[in-house]
Amino acid sequence: MLKKPLGFNSHHRVVNLRRRTYTTTRAAAALLKAARDEGIPEHISESTQHRYRRALCERETPYGPLVQNVSLPNADIAVQHPLAMLHISVQESEPLARCIYDSLAAHGPPSPDEPWRLIWYHDEIGISPLVAHDSKKTLGCYWSFVEFGTRLLCNENCWFVMAAVRSDIISDIPGGGLSHFVKLCLHMFLTGASGNLRTGICLHLKGYNAPIVLFAELFMVAADLDGIFKFLCSMGQQANVPCPLCANVVSIKSGWARAGNVLRAIDNLNKTDIVFRTDASIRNTLRALRAAAHNYRNGTITKAELETMEQDLGFRHRDDNVLLDDQLNINGQSVLHMDWFHTYMQTGIFNYELAALMRFLGKNRPRPVTIDDMREFVSRYTPPKHFGGVSHLLNNNCISKESVHFKCSASEGLTLYPILALFFNEVVLPLGVCVPHTRSFLALCDSLDLLCHVQEGLVTPDQLEDAITKHAVLSQAAYGNLVWVYKHHVAAMHLADQLRRHGLLVSLFTQERRHKLVKRFIKDRRKLSGFERGVIEEVTCQHLYDLQAELLTCGLRAPHDPTRSQREALIASFPDALSFQVAAACSLLTGAAANVGDVVAYRRGDDSIAVGELLTIARIHQADAVDDITCISTWQPAAAATSLYYRNYVMGDNPEFIPLDYILAPMHVSKDMQSNVASCIIPAPIRNSFGH
Ligand SMILES: [Zn+2]
Repeated sequence: MLKKPLGFNSHHRVVNLRRRTYTTTRAAAALLKAARDEGIPEHISESTQHRYRRALCERETPYGPLVQNVSLPNADIAVQHPLAMLHISVQESEPLARCIYDSLAAHGPPSPDEPWRLIWYHDEIGISPLVAHDSKKTLGCYWSFVEFGTRLLCNENCWFVMAAVRSDIISDIPGGGLSHFVKLCLHMFLTGASGNLRTGICLHLKGYNAPIVLFAELFMVAADLDGIFKFLCSMGQQANVPCPLCANVVSIKSGWARAGNVLRAIDNLNKTDIVFRTDASIRNTLRALRAAAHNYRNGTITKAELETMEQDLGFRHRDDNVLLDDQLNINGQSVLHMDWFHTYMQTGIFNYELAALMRFLGKNRPRPVTIDDMREFVSRYTPPKHFGGVSHLLNNNCISKESVHFKCSASEGLTLYPILALFFNEVVLPLGVCVPHTRSFLALCDSLDLLCHVQEGLVTPDQLEDAITKHAVLSQAAYGNLVWVYKHHVAAMHLADQLRRHGLLVSLFTQERRHKLVKRFIKDRRKLSGFERGVIEEVTCQHLYDLQAELLTCGLRAPHDPTRSQREALIASFPDALSFQVAAACSLLTGAAANVGDVVAYRRGDDSIAVGELLTIARIHQADAVDDITCISTWQPAAAATSLYYRNYVMGDNPEFIPLDYILAPMHVSKDMQSNVASCIIPAPIRNSFGH
């Protein structure tokens, strides 16, 4: 019998559901499914939804409402009270409560002498980068604890969003802009009268009987360079001493650094020549400027004299500079954490040096190496699926004309650099062209390898410092100070010290994902009235919802029922199983992701390392256990290893089932179908395991 066609009306009805107001098909499907499964709530109007959202955010805690108003001199805005959020979320989220309990067990109970270490992070989120004035540009302020550990800190749900405030409001705060705002926020953590982290707060963890007492102190303020400058009220490049952490470093152009005096140019690599600022010297400098500003107001000195002093010392006086707050008593140098991600990858060292290298190679005669050569090589490699392709980045417009940097996003750069490292090592170096420049770039890639894997705890500060210094020396040998910018100074003089002092480098990939959450709710807002309250209420409700899911995930992403052929194949291998689920992607123990079709490196039962193509990701429900497994088509090594950076494999069809947590990393792969050989780039952290 012929299948009866669906009536035109039912097609029409489903299609027209999304016509009255714009909704994505995914959102419509999710809402309809919820209505089918759980029924339709009695009250559903827009105003009801807003009212319920507000009610959730106005819940009272010992610290006041969850979302509360803050009066700035120029505006009233709403923020999420950090301690109220902690109070509610650990009572409602079993996964978060468990993380806190486990961290307490690992580090011992905190005390006033050994408090937990609070990380503060702020960054601006651009919404419309192409318009002249981005009125929705927003400062996002996030926080977490070092004690969560590096793996959890890579999960965006372990970062709380305290505030999302339009940059226009922040920069107009008369007493000190961003610094003033951060000061008000930090008071809520550290000095609040109704309870604060310095005197200890009491938390009731969901699923645990006895309450715990938590003490914490500000340990780290992480931001990109602009965010650090604004936090300190540093003048940055406008001052005679552009680095707020170095008292005697001056620009190269100024010509002030001469033999016999104490000033050093910004390309100086000898740390013993630098007068590093300390907590005390920063505090004294700011107090001296405060006194000078007082004298100017009294008429004892002129405005020009005050400005000269600011210019020489590198800071602008602001009455409400967070570092001038005696009650907070923040150690300006110890807490600073300049972000490596922006330093290297966002119009950073990688972008400048790659552009310079491409220019030199393109002009080399008689054998230029062109962008086309690079693109041809890069296009042979397929990155792991969740990275996306990168060969399109190498086009004739890829170098910005104004500031001569290679144009790509930070994550694109991180996908691209291992392939380029292989290209320069295997193709360009043997040609013998632009050797100093190529060697410098390869040293840069070595630094990036270390920086990407600092969070795994395998990289020591000395190792990092050696790698960065080696690159800096080679870069200066190749280019002089042609490509040298302030970010090179930050990398060479400050990054390894930060790792030494803080024990970790905050990985700002995670924050970029946090930005996406905030951005989603900002984009929805057409008007600016009630902007901060609306955004922070949405973010708060979303975060409380997201915290119901496990924080440390290793396993199937979005599991679903298998197709009939998949089920039959699984039954053949696991005849005793009760049921199966499958997924197109999975999360690995390292926090990375792998997709079906990716080529992965994995550990065998005997701890040897193997490589193969990921065919299936499945969850096997058995009578006494649930196991996440993968089916991998194992490849055999093609020949003895010749390179540290890649290995060739004969592609084979030899499937074997292995536990999902045996997978180490997805790889970039170049397949030659004629010879049936694949070249795989070995990710830096597992290179040693490949037997070199
Ligand atoms: Zn410096």
